[in-house]
Formats: sequence, structure tokens, C-alpha cells
Amino acid sequence: MRILVQKFGGTSLANPERRAQVAAKVSEAINQGYSPVVVVSAIGRSGDPYATDTLIKMVSSIYSEVPKREMDLLLSCGEIISGSIMVSTLQGLGLEAVLLTGGQAGIITNSSFGDARIVRIEPENILEQLKEGKVVVITGFQGMTENGQITTLGRGGSDTTACSIGVALNAEAIDIYTDVEGIMTADPRIVQDAKILDVITYNDICHLAHQGAKVIHPRAVEIAMQKNIPLRVKCTFSDAPGTLVTNVQPDLAEGSDMIGDRIITGIAHTPNVTQIKIHIQEEENKPKAITKIFKGMALADISVDFISVQPETVLYTVRDELAKKAVNILKNLGFNPESAPGCAKIALVGGGIADVPGVMANMAEALAESGIEILQSADSHTTIWVLVRKEHMVPAVQSLHKKFELGI
Ligand code: ADP
Ligand code: MG
Repeated sequence: MRILVQKFGGTSLANPERRAQVAAKVSEAINQGYSPVVVVSAIGRSGDPYATDTLIKMVSSIYSEVPKREMDLLLSCGEIISGSIMVSTLQGLGLEAVLLTGGQAGIITNSSFGDARIVRIEPENILEQLKEGKVVVITGFQGMTENGQITTLGRGGSDTTACSIGVALNAEAIDIYTDVEGIMTADPRIVQDAKILDVITYNDICHLAHQGAKVIHPRAVEIAMQKNIPLRVKCTFSDAPGTLVTNVQPDLAEGSDMIGDRIITGIAHTPNVTQIKIHIQEEENKPKAITKIFKGMALADISVDFISVQPETVLYTVRDELAKKAVNILKNLGFNPESAPGCAKIALVGGGIADVPGVMANMAEALAESGIEILQSADSHTTIWVLVRKEHMVPAVQSLHKKFELGI
């Protein structure tokens, strides 16, 4: 059996015309000799009747502290609805199809409701249905605990479902279908000439995704990478080849005529972060104070980023919605923190960054030319980050994209 996993995001399922295009992709796979396993997200985006965000609002408007277990039960309905509709669409076209929930598909998770981790997959049920010649449609984003509780996998969870199933079934490939023609050098919603990448490494897309490129979830990429299963990001509404995610450096991929011609792979951005600054008083025991700050954050489950510890000052960022809580904790610990809400993180990602001098110089120049102030910066061997004010986020991404000639 040649298994192909095809995952379709919410916008791909939003109306009957689009679902017909989804069905065409499934039928194409069958004609090519594949046994397709179709993973679906909930239909549409916030505001659409059964989109995940709509379901959340439905109960959180009644009571803000909805129990996580009940929230997961509700959220799992979004994919059950889209899966049922997809099965009907396929059946209507004469394709035998069956819907399995996460639990029925054998996706066993831990019991962290709202952000559950897959502990293993028991694929027998899926395989049995495939052997009968049926298209197996699986509800994305959800699983089941050992004792039958329904869980969800966190945002972007359908990508994780697709990749986990792909690995468990040793699929020939995992195709992530969405509303853009592949992975691009930046979010096409803010950079008009963002370029589609033919090939990208698991590592580069993982970094971009962790830094906010929401075209695919980083956890999903990490899972596919474990077994080296080819991952492709494609468009539901076109026949474009999309982007292949592999282990091979794009420079060395077949058909490429040059080695090392691209230093930067892409740019990602994360809005809505708050910068927190704490001055440590002369008389304080500095190592103790620093420990106290970060222990305070950890105990409150606040994840910190962009950390910079200097002799007199500690800087870091938290998500805007956690800023108030973070500041209160710091005040209670006896600090006097300053906070700058409404910042954005911009990440320049590329395997070549570490070895090439002048990347930061070009970055600083591009931002200066656009009158953008760098509030903070950091770097690793694959990424350079800058923190800017929210109103500078879009022009910053655009000017860096131009400076590094990523659209060419
Ligand atoms: P789906 O509902 O299909 O999962 P998502 O909204 O999660 O779709 O992901 C697709 C969106 O990701 C695109 O519409 C695009 O705006 C955004 N995106 C952000 N960064 C990138 C990038 N580097 N390449 C392609 N798309 C990107
Ligand atoms: Mg998505």
C-alpha cells in the first residue's frame, strides 16, 4: 500500500466549491495509485459558525474559566463537523470514505487538556479501513487519553496530527494543503513579492515556524523529520508544485547550479510581545536577584524570551497577555520593572548566517534607512532577532526582505 497523508486547513474547507477542490486532490491521489489518509481542520476562520475560535467564544462569553476538559470536548466538534461534511462530499463523488475521530484513529495522548502531547499511535483501525479501499478522513487537532478522554493538541494541531499519522503509517509523503502556494520567504500577507521556496530544510522551516511563520506548525515538522518523511506544503486551489521540506540543503538539491548562494532563507515575525526591563540596585546580590526574577516567571508558568542579562539590567520579553501578571509578580518580589507593551519580534533565518560577516550590518542599515529603532537584538547560528515597536513590524519585514533580495 502506498500511503499519502493529505491535510487540509480551515480555509480549504470553507465552502462547497473549495471542498470540491479538496475532493479533486484526493481523487488525483487515488488515480496516482495512493491510498489517501485525509486530515481535516475545523471549517473556516474566527467568525465562521464552527471555526475553533468561534467555538471558544461561544462558551468563554458565558464564563471565562471554562474547564479545560469541557473546552476540549467542545473544540473537538469543529473537526467532527468538517470531517463529516468531507466524507459526504467524497461519497457524493462516488469515493468510499469513512470518518475517524482522533481516538478512533488510535491517536493516544497524555491528559494535558488544551495542549496534549501524542504518546503513541495505534494505526490498526486506519490500516483496516485503507485495506477495504476506503479514503480515511481523520479529524485533526485531537486525540484521546488512555482512559477515553477527548483531548486537543493546541493551535496548529492538525499539522501535528497529519505528521504523526504520516510517521506511524510510514507514508510515502505528507502533503499540507493550505491557501498559499508553498512556504515563502516571508508572510505574503505583508510582503507582496515574497517568493515561494521550491525546497527548504526541516531545520530552516522549523526555525521560521518557531519564530511565527504560521504556514506550518513547528512540532509537526519535528515529527516528520524524525523519520525523514518528505513533507510538502501545497495550495488546495492550484496545481503549483509547492515546497518540499527535506534534509537536503537546497543549495545541494538536484538542479541547483550554485553552492551557498542564499544566506537567508526567510523572515518571520511575531507581534504582541512586551519587553520587560529590570534595573538591579547596586546594593542587591545580583546573582540572587537574577535567579529570583526567572524563578518567579517559571513558577507562574510564564515563558520568557529574548533574555539579556547585563550587570545592571535584566531584559526579556513575554507575550502581551501575560505582561500584567509578570509585572505584578516582579513588584511583589520587590523589583521595580518597566514594561513596553506592543512590541514585535522579527527573525531573519538562514543556515548560512553564522559564517557570513556583515549580516547584522546589513540588517541595521536596512532598519536605519526606514527609521526603525532596534529595541533589542540577539543571534544564534541560524537566526538573528530584533525587537521593534509594533507599528514598525510590517515596514521592518518589508525593508529586510528587500535588503537581502529575498524576492529575487
Ligand atoms: P491553514 O488554515 O491551511 O492551516 P494557516 O493560516 O495556518 O492555514 O497558514 C497559512 C498562512 O500562513 C498563509 O495564508 C500565510 O498568510 C501565512 N504565512 C506566514 N508566514 C508564511 C510563509 N513564510 N510562507 C507562507 N505562508 C506564510
Ligand atoms: Mg495552520
